[in-house]
Parts: sequence; C-alpha cells; structure tokens
Amino acid sequence: DMPHPSQATLITPSGRIDRADHGWRAKCLQRLVRMDLPVPRSFAISADAVRMIAQGRPVAPDVLSEVFAGSGLVSVRPSAVMPEWGGPGTVLNVGINDALHGRLAAAIGRQNADAVYLSFVQSYAIHIARLDPDMFSQDGDGALADALRCYHDEMDQPFPQDPVEQLNQVLRSMARAWDGPTARLLRQAKGAPADAPLGLVVQEMALALGPGICGSGTIQFIDPVTGTPRVTGRFRGQRHGATIGTGAETLYLTRDDRGPSLEETAPEIFADLVRFGIAARERLREEMQIEFVVTGGRISVIDAVRVTRGSRASVRIAVSLARDGIIPPEEALMRVEPRALADLLHHQVDPRAPRDVIARGIDASPGAATGRIVFTAAAAQSSHARGEPCILVRRETIPEDIRGMHASVAVLTERGGTTSHAAVIARGLGLPCIVGASGLTIDARARTVRAGSRTLREGDEITIDGSSGEVLAGAAVLLPPALDDAFTQLMDWAAEAGGLGVRANADTPEDAETARRFQAQGIGLCRTEHMFFDAERLPAMREMIFADTPEDRRLSLDRILPMQRQDFTRLFEIMAGLPVTIRLFDPPLHEFLPHDREGLRELAELLDLPLSDVTRRVEALTEFNPMLGMRGVRLGITVPEIYDMQARAIFEATVDASLKGDPIVPEIMIPLVSAMREVELVKTRIDAVAAAVRNERRTDFTYRLGVMVETPRAALRAGDIAAHSAFLSFGTNDLTQMTYGLSRDDAGRFMGAYVGQGVYAEDPFHVLDQDGVGELVLIGVQRARQQKPGITISVCGEHGGNPESIAFCHQAGVDYVSCSPFRVPVARLAAAQSAI
Ligand code: PEP
Ligand code: MG
Repeated sequence: DMPHPSQATLITPSGRIDRADHGWRAKCLQRLVRMDLPVPRSFAISADAVRMIAQGRPVAPDVLSEVFAGSGLVSVRPSAVMPEWGGPGTVLNVGINDALHGRLAAAIGRQNADAVYLSFVQSYAIHIARLDPDMFSQDGDGALADALRCYHDEMDQPFPQDPVEQLNQVLRSMARAWDGPTARLLRQAKGAPADAPLGLVVQEMALALGPGICGSGTIQFIDPVTGTPRVTGRFRGQRHGATIGTGAETLYLTRDDRGPSLEETAPEIFADLVRFGIAARERLREEMQIEFVVTGGRISVIDAVRVTRGSRASVRIAVSLARDGIIPPEEALMRVEPRALADLLHHQVDPRAPRDVIARGIDASPGAATGRIVFTAAAAQSSHARGEPCILVRRETIPEDIRGMHASVAVLTERGGTTSHAAVIARGLGLPCIVGASGLTIDARARTVRAGSRTLREGDEITIDGSSGEVLAGAAVLLPPALDDAFTQLMDWAAEAGGLGVRANADTPEDAETARRFQAQGIGLCRTEHMFFDAERLPAMREMIFADTPEDRRLSLDRILPMQRQDFTRLFEIMAGLPVTIRLFDPPLHEFLPHDREGLRELAELLDLPLSDVTRRVEALTEFNPMLGMRGVRLGITVPEIYDMQARAIFEATVDASLKGDPIVPEIMIPLVSAMREVELVKTRIDAVAAAVRNERRTDFTYRLGVMVETPRAALRAGDIAAHSAFLSFGTNDLTQMTYGLSRDDAGRFMGAYVGQGVYAEDPFHVLDQDGVGELVLIGVQRARQQKPGITISVCGEHGGNPESIAFCHQAGVDYVSCSPFRVPVARLAAAQSAI
C-alpha cells in the first residue's frame, strides 16, 4: 500500500519528525518548537510524499486548507537530509489572491499589499508557469494589474485564486526541480547520494510589513572568521522577503556598529533575540544563525541554520562549546576538519577580501604570502638580503634551489605534482607553495611570466595562496596564524584521545623544533641527503663523488663526517630522548652535480680538473631513469663508504648526546630496499661500525635498524625483511610511484586530466590509494607481523599527513605515521578521530 501523499505533518514538540524522512530543516524547526521559541505553524512534507508529488499526485485539499488557517500566506522551503545538499529556492507568499490582497490593503496599506501580491505573481509566473521573466519585470504603479493581465493572456486563464491549487503547483515544481540534472550534479559534488531524498517545509508567514516595528532579519552570535563572540546580522525594517515596503530602513543589530541599531531602536526585541540565541546554542549544541520576522513588535523565529564558518572559527567554536559543557571534548575533536588546522598554522588570505586570481595550480603547501617575483635562487637570496620578501617562480625546482627557497616567502612552479621536489621541500619549510600551475609561461631569460593575457615581470608583487592553489595579483589582505588557546586546547584533547602515534619528517634543527612545538612524538624520517645541499657541504660532496680511489673517497668523507655528526647531535638534543629515525643516503649522485655550463666550469675550477673531464664524469653518472636507478640502498651497496660514514656519525653523535642526557637509541633506516640480502649486507657493515665506535669510545649503546618498504617487492617480501629489522616504515611516495609506474616528478602534467576524467578519484600521491597501494601495505603489515609479531610499523610518505590516509593506516594496524612538521597537528587530530 502506497503511503498517502497528503502527509503534511504539523510540527509539534512531540510529533514524529525524522531527519531521514523530513530533512534537516524540519528537524531543526521541531527543536526550536520544543524550546518554546515563537515559531510560526510549520508543516513537514516527507520525502516519500515529495516523490509522489513530483510524479503528479496532488496533495489532498483538506490537508492543505489547514495550512492556510492562519495569516493565509505560507512559504515553502527545501529540507534535504544535509543543509549543504541545497534544494530548490524558497517560494514565499503562497496563498495570496484578490480577496486576501483586499484584506491586506486594509491592514498594511494598499502599496504594501500590492507589493506582496506582485512579488508572488512574478515568482509564480517565472518559476512555476515558466513564463518569460522579461514580461514580469516591472514594478511601481499599475505593475500588479499588468502582471495579472499578462499572466492571463499568456496562460489563457486567470491567475489561480485557489490557495490550495497555488500550493499544489508550487510543491510540484519544487519536487521536480530537485530531480533536474544541474541540481543533481551540484548536490553530488557535496557528497549527496544520487537518489538523495528531499523533504519540504510549509510555514505560515508572519508579515514583516505594516504598522509598528515590522521587518525581517538574521542574527548570529559569533564572528564567522575568528569564532569569537560577536553579534552580527541585519534588521531590515518593512521588508518582507524580497518585498520592500514603504518606509523600509536597514538597521545594524548592536549599538557597537556605526549606525542606527535594533538594540537602540527596540531594546526588548534585541534582548529577546539574544536570549533565543543563547538557548539555541545550548539546545542545538551548535552556533546558529537565526532568521526572524518582527510583526508589530512581535518576534517570529522562522528558521535557524548552522553558522557558516572558516577554519579558525571552526576550532574556536568547537572548543568553546566543549568548554561550556555543551558537547563533550571527543565531539569537539570530531567537529573540526583536520585539514582546517593547516590554515591556522600559517598566514591565510582573508576570506572576506577581494581576490584577483591570475593563475591556478595544485595547492601543494598551505598558507599565503605576498612577495616580489624572482626567477632564480640567486635573485631570491639577494632579495632576502635586502629584506624584501620574494616569491621564487620556477618551471620546477631542483636541489640547488633549496637556498633560494629558504630565502623566499613562497614558491610557485609551472610543473610538478604533490610530491615533487618543490612541494616536499616547501611543506617541510612551512612555505606556501603552488606547483603544476600549467597555465603559466615562464621566460626566465626575459624575466617575465605570462598568465593568460597578463604578463608579470621580475619584481612585480603577487600573493601565493597555497591553501587554495590560487595565484593572486598584488598584495592580498592576510590573516596571521592562529596558534591560540583554542588550538592548544584542541591539541591537548587530541593527545588524550590516543590513536596511532604521529612523528615528524624533519631534516634540520628548525624542522625538529617545529616538530617539538607541535608535540610530534619523535622524528620518523630524517632525509639525510637534504643535509648536503648546503653551500659549505656541496663542494665536499662533489669532491667525494669525483674521488678516483677509495682512499680519496675516504678523505672527502672524513671532511663530511664531523658535519653529519653535528647534525645528528643537534637533532638528538632537540628531540630530548624522543625517538629519531635517520634514513641513510637515498638520492642518485648526479643530483649533487651541476647541469649547466657555468656550474660545470666552476666545478672544474674547484676540483682542478679539465672541463672535459668533469663533463664526461657528469654524463657518466646521468641515468635514463634515475628514480629507478642507482639510488637508495643500491648506492649503499655499490659505494658502501657513504653509509659507513653516516653510521659512524650517528653512533658518535649518540655517544656525545647520551653523555649529556638520557641514553639515546638511534633508529637507522635503509631506503629503497627490494631484497632481504640488501638488508643483510648493510646490517653487517653497520654492526661493524657500531662495534668500532663502542671500542674507540669505550662505551656501550644500542641502535635499531629498520627498513623502508617503498618498492612493491619489499612489501611482498616483508616477512623475510622483517626477520632482520626492528621496524619497517612504508615510504608510500615511492611505493605509489612504483605501484602505478607513475613518476612522482612528472605526474603533475596529467594529474589534472586524470582526476578530472575520473581515472583516479584523487591524486594518489596525496590521498593513499587504498585499493592498490593500500593492498600492498596490508600485505606487508600482515607478512611482517606473521614473522615478527612485535615489529614496529609506520608510514612516512606524504600520506602520513593526509586525514583519509591516516584513518586507513589506523585500520591497517600501523603504529605511527610521520609527516612534515607543519602537518603534525592535522595528523594528530586525524589520528584522534580514528581512535574515537
Ligand atoms: C617515500 O618514498 O615515501 C619516502 C618517504 O621517501 P622519499 O620521499 O624521500 O623518497
Ligand atoms: Mg622514497
């Protein structure tokens, strides 16, 4: 038996109103009714009924005439399950006809009554009868008569006078609009299912026109950007929906605003609204914006919606609701989008300010900064020396650009994806960064960059919004970081909630300090190669690469050893006993060599070699596919002296740092392993170095040896590998690259097209691909634990800072994730959420 389509349920405190059947708006109105707020009589039409109405079944007249029993005017509003799913536009003033128009004219004046009637005829003609809007666009004297005549002419029948017929037509048109393809796409983009239901709410209208204080307005009690308490909104006197009555005047709400306010004009009304706001916050457990109407001094609350808010406000609101005991701390944790925290750690473009967007790219590192364009690392450094903030604009960055990046306030590249060099380094430094801005054409020689029809020169000012991926012309209005008490409180609650651990990827003392500040539980990945791009060290490194004999190589490594020892000592000191995982040298050697003639000549001079010699050697090191070539453990096995030196530096630093504090147990990690034998070979040598250092320093220490699982084979052979390892750390950047066979440095060029056409739901370098790469992680975890149940397992690729991927890691039984220091708070919140 089909449910009767005439279900229009009067919303009462005890009636059955269900969000799934009637939508969020109906449910929210019921809560307001329960609070005894002055809500006009409202009726909820269930989604089932709406579906039948869409199919053409009219609503029974007896049900509908009840709706008109009061003022005779009603509004119809959409009520989807989630507010963000939207819905057809509200229709106001349903029920007006010649008779009601006459009565209204007597009560509120002819002009006002005309305006209300005209506004309904217009919206009915345009949205329901689908007549040409141009024919109904007039207002003023005679407009009502014209509109009614025009309707009659076009439709061959007079404007419907029966309120029940009007309402039936409005309901049907709204029900059908919900099924339109545009509406469907819009709501699916907001996460709604394809067959999302729609409820409707029919509400008696309070008149906002007439004698005494009349009007409509909205009021909210917090600042939507900062989340601090502040009354904002407007009161529009003599304004009824879109209908502007005679003597219309807009007021501010509080006396703090510059201009006449409701608080001064009608203090009792203002006081009541504030009282309603406080009650709504407590009962609805949320910051609400209240929509109200005043009729001759009497308030009607017609709707309440959750205040739309920015990231900062979302944190402050959740924390203050929990502090006031309105929601438990766990719920406050669940209410904040982990991503939102990233906005708090950096400057942000003020969402209220105008934006002049000149280009778009991938939002590779959040935050915003304004500076002058520079095209080279050298120009960045001199700009920095002059104290002028600059933005490094490059086709893509290479390791030698690091110093330039340090000297810049933001980075913009034409190429690259989320794990390209520029992106990884910028996230580590906390610099706003956009990569893959393929609409740009950089002419480094002419020192110009073209973006569409605009050409910018070196020295021109731009703003990088790394949170949205937008490049803005000129200086935008920025909000400062918001590491305030609300943020700290939320982080403390996150720590109490538990969940998987969060460490930081930190290569420098500054990174380590940031990691501590955000309460990372250690360093999960120190990429030691990043320590060699320094101006002082690069020459020693190059000398080592060019060494002809093992003896010469030893000599140059001896120069690097004390620098590395000092690096590690600093990290151990800063981390004060927390675990520090140091990854042995990973990248291909040619990354340390110059690529242009100028650089080659300089190198020849430094090494006192003929240019041709240097060029030949550089060419010999060049690989067709360096990412799959002589890097990681392969280099460690071919040129073992490098790992020996690093192990020695780590152990000597361990001894030095342990003298000053608690004993340190360093964690050493081998990159890019694909076979157990690689681990055995490296382990034997490291054990030998450890024995030598123990002997020389006459002291004991232990260390933990771990393996990065970042080739598919390592994941499949995780059982064997675990036998020789104290811990495994999934390097999901390389694991993604190798599982897909997708270059992490080149994917940016087509990632947009791939995601756009739904080949990938998301950039797999950004959000872990659970079906493929995730499967390898699960297999790896399972095989490793089968072999060695207590083995520590972590994820240290960029995914370690991505909330969805963290939830997956939690389910996979990963012990901790490690991510860029500036993503530690995001990860801590995501970890807490997966534990709640
Ligand atoms: C990885 O591959 O996931 C990883 C952490 O190492 P890197 O990004 O340095 O290659
Ligand atoms: Mg890797």
